[in-house]
Amino acid sequence: MSKIYYTKPSIGELERAYVNDAVANGWGEQCYAYIQRFEREFAARLGVAHAVATSSCTGALHLGLRALDIGPGDEVILADMNWIASAAPVCYVGAQAVLVDVLPDSWCLDPAAVARAITPRTKAIIAVHLYGNLAALAELRALATAHGLALIEDAAEALGSRYQGRGAGAWGDLAVFSFHGTKLMTTGEGGMLVTNSTALRTRVEQLNNHGRAAGELRQFWPAELGHKYKMSNIQAALGCAQLERLDELLARKRAIFAYYARALLPVIDGAQMNPEPPDTLNSYWMPTLMLPEDCPGARDTVLHSLAEAGVDARLVFQPLSRTPVFAATPQASNPQAAGLALRGLNLPSYHELTEAEQDRVIAAVLQGLKR
Ligand SMILES: *Cc1c(COP(=O)(O)O)cnc(C)c1O
Repeated sequence: MSKIYYTKPSIGELERAYVNDAVANGWGEQCYAYIQRFEREFAARLGVAHAVATSSCTGALHLGLRALDIGPGDEVILADMNWIASAAPVCYVGAQAVLVDVLPDSWCLDPAAVARAITPRTKAIIAVHLYGNLAALAELRALATAHGLALIEDAAEALGSRYQGRGAGAWGDLAVFSFHGTKLMTTGEGGMLVTNSTALRTRVEQLNNHGRAAGELRQFWPAELGHKYKMSNIQAALGCAQLERLDELLARKRAIFAYYARALLPVIDGAQMNPEPPDTLNSYWMPTLMLPEDCPGARDTVLHSLAEAGVDARLVFQPLSRTPVFAATPQASNPQAAGLALRGLNLPSYHELTEAEQDRVIAAVLQGLKR
C-alpha cells in the first residue's frame, strides 16, 4: 500500500522546459530575465502594482515589516492559530507579537479581538488567510484605517482565494506569499511581496539588496544594514511555469475539497470544513476537517486510523502562545484557537491525488470515528 502524502507539487513538461532554459541560458544578460518576468506576471495576475520575488515568505515578511519601520517598542497583532513563520519576523525586528483569538467559522483573526488588542504602540495587523479561508478583510481594513495601522496580508495559503472578486493579497498595504513545496504553486523554496505603494517597493528592494540604494554610484556601498532574501532566476523559471498553470492547480484543489466535503459533511454530525461565505472564493489550499465539539478524543482516533491506512494527515496549527517561543510574553487566553487545535485535521490534497486515494482517506476518517 503506497503512502498518501498530504501535499506534493505538480511538476510537468512546462516546468522542466523553463528550468532547463534558465539553467542553460539564464546567465549574463539574461540573469534576471525569469525573475523580472515572474514578478511582472504575478503582479498582473493579482492586479497589484508591484511584486518582489524573495527566497521565502518568511523573508518577504521580514522585509515588509522593516520597510514599514516596525521595530522595538511596536506591537503587531496576529492570530494565535498560526504557524511560527507568520510571527517570527515580528520578533526578528524586535517588535512584540500580540496573539489574539480567531473566529469559529473561518479560523482567521477575530476583528473584535483585534479591536480590543489595539494600543498606542500597535503598528500593524497581520491577517493570515488560513488554509485558503479568507480573513475578515473588510472589517480588518476598516480597523487598520481607523487606527492608522498597516494591514499586512499573509496570503501564503490563499493564492487564488478571492473576496468580492479581488484576490487575497490585493487588499493589504502589503502582502506576502510562499512558494514552498507544500503550497499551491512552488519554486522549491520562495516567496513574493506585493504592494501598490511605489515607496514601499523601493524600500523593500533596497533592504533586500543588503541596504544598497538604487542608483548608488559607489561600489560596495550599503546605505544601511539590509538583508538578502533573493529568489534565483532558476527558481523564478519554475515559478513562471507554475503561474501559467495556476488555474489548473486551483481547479484541482477545489475538486479535491468538494469530493471530501460531499463524503464527510453529511455523515459527521457537527463537523465543519473550510467555509466559502457569499462574495468569496476559497482556494481550499488545505482541505481541513474540524471534528464535532462534542467528541473529545476523536481527533486522535481519526489521526491514528489515517496513519494505519498510510495517510499523511496533519494537525491544524497549535496556538503559538502555548509554544516555548512565546511562553515568556503574556498573551490573552484564546479559547477558540485552543479548541480548534484539538479538533482539526488537514487532509491530503496534492494535484495528482486520485479519487480511489481520496476514498481511502475518507474510509479511514470514518473508521477512526467509530472507535
Ligand atoms: C508557508 C507559510 C509561510 C512560510 O513560508 P516560507 O516560504 O516557508 O517562508 C508563512 N505564512 C504562512 C501562512 C504559510 O502558510
